[in-house]
Amino acid sequence: MAAGLGDFTGIGEKLMPETGTPLEKIFIVKGDITRLSVDAIVNAANSSLLGGGGVDGAIHRAAGPELLEECRKLGGCPTGEARITRGYGLPARYVIHTVGPVWRDGKHGEYDLLASCYRNVLRLALQYDLNTVAFPAISTGAYRFPPARAAEIALRETVKFINRHSAIKKIFFVCFSPAIFQAYKNALKQYAKSQV
Ligand code: ADP
Repeated sequence: MAAGLGDFTGIGEKLMPETGTPLEKIFIVKGDITRLSVDAIVNAANSSLLGGGGVDGAIHRAAGPELLEECRKLGGCPTGEARITRGYGLPARYVIHTVGPVWRDGKHGEYDLLASCYRNVLRLALQYDLNTVAFPAISTGAYRFPPARAAEIALRETVKFINRHSAIKKIFFVCFSPAIFQAYKNALKQYAKSQV
């Protein structure tokens, strides 16, 4: 298991270190997900899986052309589902690609689809025996999902999952912008409060 953070900058914002609760496995960090040496990083891909902008572009650039070659063989991925590839030039061993929903108005299944992304990624991680997983804030960039709601869903689904499956040891939520970082910190505080 490679859980080292390498030279990842801005690391270290761990909140709510309540020993014995699943929250101690959750880390909210700032930075670039492509630099994390975890078992798997998650890609907020589009349904073609053939690369795009944002975090998807950054992951493909850092992994190199072999990633695109493997993605081509997968034949795409529907919204809410996930697919796994190797990490190639990345410090992470695997990339789990998931396709988040495009935000419209919240009345088109966006909440459930985003929750499915988190569940399906974690199911794959379990299946491949991966203990450390790093997520970007899926759908909060080009797909315009409101960050506060997205962070809430990310946290709720992840905590629910790791409560049931102790094989997952560490989850990183990697925030690329201060607004997303703040949204996750708020969501974590809310969640912790709701548990007492
Ligand atoms: P989506 O299409 O799912 O919205 P984006 O890549 O546009 O995907 O954005 C998703 C989130 O990923 C945004 O919060 C964006 O700021 C963030 N992001 C972009 N580049 C990186 C990166 N290198 N590492 C981590 N997060 C990133």
